[in-house]
Amino acid sequence: MQNLQQHIDNFITRCKENGLSVTPQRISIYKALLANNLHPSPDMVYAEIKKENPNISFATVYKTLETFEKQGFIKKVTPLHNTVRYDIVTENHQHLVCVKCGKITDIEIEELSRINIDPKILQNNLLLDYNINFNVICEECQKKQNN
Ligand SMILES: [Zn+2]
Ligand SMILES: [Zn+2]
Repeated sequence: MQNLQQHIDNFITRCKENGLSVTPQRISIYKALLANNLHPSPDMVYAEIKKENPNISFATVYKTLETFEKQGFIKKVTPLHNTVRYDIVTENHQHLVCVKCGKITDIEIEELSRINIDPKILQNNLLLDYNINFNVICEECQKKQNN
């Protein structure tokens, strides 16, 4: 597991490699994504960033997230609940998705991260990636239901 500074250094290196300028805004947006992986929506990232950068616009945050995604720094979680959610973890993993509150939690089941799929099943399509989400009702939502 890398520490925060290593993550940031790595980010800066990758920006340079990809010809992307390293601005304080980009760094603070990346830090906000690293802080705790709640698989935030653009709104959630914006709310977080605004605390330290009151002058930043939503459009800037939104565009930066799109850029990060294009560069492969973050991934979109399969569209759920009609809003984009971003994931700082780009390695293959699975998600628990609460169907009530939309909370997304990372889990890793080894076998599911390395499935060998018969090319016949793929029908000559080139497999890029796959997502496995478990739809759940989280503990908090279960408690609310019982009240
Ligand atoms: Zn829930
Ligand atoms: Zn995730």
